[in-house]
Amino acid sequence: ARSRSVKGVPDSAPLLRRLNENLWQDHPNYHMYKQILTQDLSDDIKNLSRYKLKLTKVLGSGAFGEVLQGQLIRGVIFKHVAVKRLSSGCSEKERTDFLVEALTMSKFKHDNIVCCLGIYVKNGALLLVEELMAGGDLKHFLVESRPTIDETPALSTDELLSLANDICQACSYLEAHKFIHRDIASRNCLLTAKTPDRVAKMADFGLARDIIQNDSYQKCGRSMLPVRWLPPESYLEGIFSTKSDVWAYGILLWEIFSFGYDPYPSMKCEEMMAKVNGGQRMAAPSRCPTVVYDVMMLCWQHDPKSRPSFERLCEYLQKIRKNVCINIVCTNDVSGDEQGDDRV
Ligand code: ADP
Repeated sequence: ARSRSVKGVPDSAPLLRRLNENLWQDHPNYHMYKQILTQDLSDDIKNLSRYKLKLTKVLGSGAFGEVLQGQLIRGVIFKHVAVKRLSSGCSEKERTDFLVEALTMSKFKHDNIVCCLGIYVKNGALLLVEELMAGGDLKHFLVESRPTIDETPALSTDELLSLANDICQACSYLEAHKFIHRDIASRNCLLTAKTPDRVAKMADFGLARDIIQNDSYQKCGRSMLPVRWLPPESYLEGIFSTKSDVWAYGILLWEIFSFGYDPYPSMKCEEMMAKVNGGQRMAAPSRCPTVVYDVMMLCWQHDPKSRPSFERLCEYLQKIRKNVCINIVCTNDVSGDEQGDDRV
């Protein structure tokens, strides 16, 4: 790697070697990761040691260990940040994943993608410093905002659409950069605040998802997959593409409009996979506008080629928000029975 070495921060070259050694050539983003690791990284990303870092409280726990809140301080100026600390005793594979996530995030600059401020080295430990998303994750926020039967929802349709649009913008940016996320879900979206000025941003750019211990992920072959968010071609044939991200985005839309329910509620995983592969789809959440459900169904077309692009999805959402009639266009002609009226 041409990048200059900064004390304590690992160089890209060994990472690149690891990427090859771990046979990640099969990974859909392999070429992008490789490109990222061979680029010269700005010193800002590689070293934040010009700043003091004060850790204040625990925010949550993630795949790598604790996520903490902190302050990045320089003189009298400080910035609130979130810090992911790689737990000591982690494996080489986890360490690589941690760094690849940091480098990937720092490559993307978009208002709806959580910003990586850099890597901080403290007492030999590696810390990934990100912008603080004080509203926490979208899944929890939706559950907290869930209306009871006779209540008006705490969030209006426009607020729900605004959240959906924020993430769609991030996905459209990733689509333009040919980056396949593979784990679009409300648990992986974070909010700047809970107040109405909230902005939702996409987080979680990890390389390997097989270290996650969570009910949302099921063992499929060698890896753990978030099967409820995936189309049949992903869990049956291991195919991931921007179009499988579009399917997952449709599930995220369903999560948003159901106020944070788990997809295919009360259905076992195997049953769900068989039914979905047979053409069944989730029913619309209650109170979900028909036009929004139409967009979900479009994302869940069996044939990946028939699913819309994120660019098109952004256009649909903006029109829906403005109350403009939308003419939903299928990119391919499909026989219809794959969408099915057979709702789950
Ligand atoms: P994982 O590595 O398991 O994907 P996450 O990135 O989802 O871990 O982090 C776990 C939790 O930590 C999140 O659900 C969220 O509550 C909190 N968290 C993560 N990143 C941030 C951030 N930038 N700002 C605020 N909280 C965060």
